[in-house]
Amino acid sequence: MNKAPMALLSAKLACLTIATMASLATMEAKANWVGLRNRNGILQLKTQREFDYFALALQWPATYCRRSSHCCSSNACCRGSNAPTEFTIHGLWPDYNDGSWPACCTQKRFNEKEISTLLDALEKYWPSLSCSSPSTCHGEKHGTCSSPVTGDEYNYFLTTLNLYFKYNVTRVLYEAGYMPSNREKYPLGGIISAIQNAFHATPLVVCRNGALEELRLCFYKNFEPRDCVTEATQNDMGSSSSSCPSYISLPEFVSRGKFLSAVVT
Ligand code: 5GP
Repeated sequence: MNKAPMALLSAKLACLTIATMASLATMEAKANWVGLRNRNGILQLKTQREFDYFALALQWPATYCRRSSHCCSSNACCRGSNAPTEFTIHGLWPDYNDGSWPACCTQKRFNEKEISTLLDALEKYWPSLSCSSPSTCHGEKHGTCSSPVTGDEYNYFLTTLNLYFKYNVTRVLYEAGYMPSNREKYPLGGIISAIQNAFHATPLVVCRNGALEELRLCFYKNFEPRDCVTEATQNDMGSSSSSCPSYISLPEFVSRGKFLSAVVT
């Protein structure tokens, strides 16, 4: 064999090896090994690489508050006539396409002062609907993992609020005729279609006892809408909306009234 092409080939291979080593080193520098839970709760040891997409998780308070039996000052379910009656934010979650997700990516501590100008809006649109304190791992569980895209704490919360206002799920459902009711049941397919028609992407719907509890909208990292369900998550979950029957309710908020307000601890 001619030596010139051999020399060229080995030079190319050397370059490739150096490039691969360099990118592996970068990956190693960026990734840290952590225990991650998949949707079935199984703990897997994985490198925490950068996420693939965002899920904006929106809660339907009337359903969520039914199981929130305990009242405390931070539980918005107990705000009487000021309790939230439309979709509120559960979180902006960075997710992997395989159905798992990273959490607590940096050691940076959550600092309320950084978001002091957003607190009123957050109280209203991102309220806590229970008394249990969220697992924050000393920092912001999801915000720290979003930081390659959303930047600092302030921007993470502002980005989430802006997405919530831009993609108004409550308005889309009302305009399609899906009004809160404690008698009606609505076709799950109709609710999904209303969102698809409005935002050109398929949401994920989560139910509890036949009632809509959470609706997730998904976004590419440039915040363009995308489908929430990937092939991997579909296989994992059996179907895109396995927790919901084919007809679901969108309950009206039942105020906990004076009795429960009085026992606020
Ligand atoms: P739950 O058990 O209420 O569904 O979830 C508990 C917590 O796990 C959520 O508040 C959220 O922090 C996290 N979580 C649940 N599902 C997902 C998901 O699909 N993606 C991400 N990133 N976090 C999730």
